[in-house]
Amino acid sequence: MTQIPDTFPAFVAERHDDGVTRGVRPFSRSDLPDGDVTIRVAYSSVNYKDGLATLAKGRVARISPLVPGVDLAGTVMETTAPGLAEGDEVIVHGHDLGVAHHGGYASYARVPAGWVVPLPAGLTPRQAMALGTAGFTAALSIVTLEQRGLAPGHGPVLVTGASGGVGSTAVAMLAGRGYEVVASTGKADAAAYLRELGAGEILGREEVMGDEGRPLAAERWAGAVDCVGGATLSGVLKALRYGAAVAASGNTGGPSLSTTVFPFILRAVALLGVDSVSCPPAPRREVWERLAGDLRPAGLDDHITHEITLDELDTALTAILDGQITGRTVVRLD
Ligand code: NDP
Repeated sequence: MTQIPDTFPAFVAERHDDGVTRGVRPFSRSDLPDGDVTIRVAYSSVNYKDGLATLAKGRVARISPLVPGVDLAGTVMETTAPGLAEGDEVIVHGHDLGVAHHGGYASYARVPAGWVVPLPAGLTPRQAMALGTAGFTAALSIVTLEQRGLAPGHGPVLVTGASGGVGSTAVAMLAGRGYEVVASTGKADAAAYLRELGAGEILGREEVMGDEGRPLAAERWAGAVDCVGGATLSGVLKALRYGAAVAASGNTGGPSLSTTVFPFILRAVALLGVDSVSCPPAPRREVWERLAGDLRPAGLDDHITHEITLDELDTALTAILDGQITGRTVVRLD
């Protein structure tokens, strides 16, 4: 059996009186947290929440020092948990990972067994993290919309924040399932990328927000995947078709939501919340199985995904906080 070295590299964020320092430093085996599964991490990824976890005012990190990284994929090295064995390939994401429990930005991680999802057949650890928390959230959004009745052929489905992690994977998954996808982006140069993922039409952010003074707009969307929130989500609600729904997961455009009751009481629309962090084990596994199957997006290995090492993470975290990342960024650990 391979032994965990006494020290190994980790990207650490540490709070001080005057802010947070972050960077790669040696991390000690004895600093690994409690847990019944020790994992050799192969890949983690860069999510918006990881950026927030390294900010003094991010309201995400609950311990300091913290190894961020809200998701990881790798191989079990040691376990006392029934149903898991040394050598099993696994995924971990959500729960307290990377916020109150050391996360994926280190060569080794230790977690409770209840957080572990078996890597589905057909996905490599790199592909699992190319999807990562963002891809899981996109898939959960689509599953939630379809459970309420959305199906291909119903009309245009809007994806907001389309060039980011949740957005890119949602565009590709919806297009792969035969939906008519409209992508909204604030990046002038993202149109070609989004069309290659399968978007049939590209809109600017302001076009989705609509007229602030009007409670309703023309009925347009058969469904929507929104990870932006704020004025964008308000605009989406105004333009949903009768009986349609939006799956809301994020707040890159702000946490406030200003709306009236009219979309709900005149058009019977629904605002469906999407949470990947506390999603129970059974649906979590089901969504991962579907990510390896019918929801797997085209372009996962290359078009959607960019690979970096721990040394490049600082730059990537700044970029995602600035809304400048396109697609998904995986972090290679081994
Ligand atoms: P990314 O940064 O990769 O994508 C977010 C996208 O939002 C950006 O690429 C940009 O897209 C758009 N955006 C950025 N800033 C603004 C702004 N000021 N106004 C409007 N749009 C903006 O992040 P992720 O995909 O990792 O996460 C997206 C959101 O979803 C975050 O809020 C995150 O916390 C949340 N999330 C929630 C989860 C849950 O379980 N509920 C799980 C995963 C993520 P463009 O330039 O194309 O418009």
